[in-house]
Amino acid sequence: MISQPDVIVVGSGGLGAATAFHLVKRGVKHVALIDKHDIGSQTSPRAAGMVSCVRKSELMIKLIKLAVEKIKRFTEDTGQPLDWVHSGSLKVARRDQDAEVIESDITRGRHLGLDVERISPQDAHRLNPFLEPEGVVAVMRVGDDMYFDPSQIAVGFARGAEARGATLLPHTAVTRVLIDNGRVTGVDTDKGTIRAPIVVDAAGAWTRQVAEASGIRVPLVPTAQQLFVTEPVEGAKTDLPIVRIMDAAVYMRPCNGGLLWGVYEEHPRFFDMNALGEEFQIRDMPLDASVLWHYADDVKPQLPILLKAKVREHRGGIPTITADGQHIVGPTPAVRGFFFASGCNVAGLSISPALGETLAAWIVDGAPPVDLTPLTVARFGTGPWSEEQLRQQAAWQYRHFYGAV
Ligand SMILES: Cc1cc2nc3c(=O)[nH]c(=O)nc-3n(C[C@H](O)[C@H](O)[C@H](O)COP(=O)(O)OP(=O)(O)OC[C@H]3O[C@@H](n4cnc5c(N)ncnc54)[C@H](O)[C@@H]3O)c2cc1C
Repeated sequence: MISQPDVIVVGSGGLGAATAFHLVKRGVKHVALIDKHDIGSQTSPRAAGMVSCVRKSELMIKLIKLAVEKIKRFTEDTGQPLDWVHSGSLKVARRDQDAEVIESDITRGRHLGLDVERISPQDAHRLNPFLEPEGVVAVMRVGDDMYFDPSQIAVGFARGAEARGATLLPHTAVTRVLIDNGRVTGVDTDKGTIRAPIVVDAAGAWTRQVAEASGIRVPLVPTAQQLFVTEPVEGAKTDLPIVRIMDAAVYMRPCNGGLLWGVYEEHPRFFDMNALGEEFQIRDMPLDASVLWHYADDVKPQLPILLKAKVREHRGGIPTITADGQHIVGPTPAVRGFFFASGCNVAGLSISPALGETLAAWIVDGAPPVDLTPLTVARFGTGPWSEEQLRQQAAWQYRHFYGAV
């Protein structure tokens, strides 16, 4: 067991591993990356691995552009493999009100240097022949979007951190963050106490559990998200653009000769991680194929392939959703030395390279290079928050991820 690291990062998913990697890259000598399970084994490897560059705020577009650059040079930076494809994407409106959202997406995107344009449904069909023009009102082509292999990011960052001197502690559960006089002093684990002046809570679905064990509240909701990967399908070329149907909140991208697709359903399943017990792992999450089939039927006129292609894999994970759909990153005013890297809102893996780098700089320099104040937990005030209201707002954010009105 490492005796006295400079920083403890709890959780080796995309967000924690990226933070640990960038901490050692910035010269922090003793970083401990702790995980109660295998390194990078929980929600991160189960993601779809898509990058969406058209975000709702200037800050998020800045961060995701930085993430795209870092994904492209991931292997150079970390020495670890990462397969990625610069595919672009097609955002599809089936209703006039969503076409208006596309217009404002294009204005904002262009202003911030993104390669975005409105194209006809027929041109969209030419770019991705699985997308039928029937019932399509407007399409935005986003040239900057891409996808990557989700199983490689967290493990890659963790191994890259280890190669630069970080200590990885898998199968070690943090049971409590130690606080003395409003200051972090370390953590208790199931294998003993580790002292450190800085702790980053990047425990994914368990973020709240880790924080609340020490009386720190954080308003986010662990939420199910699942997808199908199909058997190989003729014509599913690697570089076909990702398709996103706004009002149905359905996404589809190429995957190993087949297609990968999923949905942000209207009535998401939320979890209380305490109720699931200590042994629970993300792979134990019950899956529900009927949800996916329901939405395949909804988008049948535009994506008929979804009902036809044979399913090879059904997987899911538990991302964390916040009341305003923004991540929770940075220090908590309640306790000095305690930072969050969570509230992924089903988009945490793609942005993890940028959030990890920015948070590491914040920890080392005392201020982030990009102002991340809008992402800190302080924006929610001191609570108490009503769980019911939080879940209602989180459900809305989840379902409206593509900006449909
Ligand atoms: C089906 C699906 C599709 C998705 N699609 C995309 C996408 O296209 N693009 C995108 O960017 N994102 C996507 N996501 C979201 C993405 O997976 C998450 O945003 C990201 O993986 C979150 O990473 P994390 O580090 O917060 O969580 P995790 O990967 O779950 O890591 C948290 C880690 O903390 C550890 N931990 C928890 N409690 C403790 C403790 N007490 N002590 C020690 N360790 C602990 C866990 O074991 C775990 O390894 C998708 C998710 C799913 C499920």
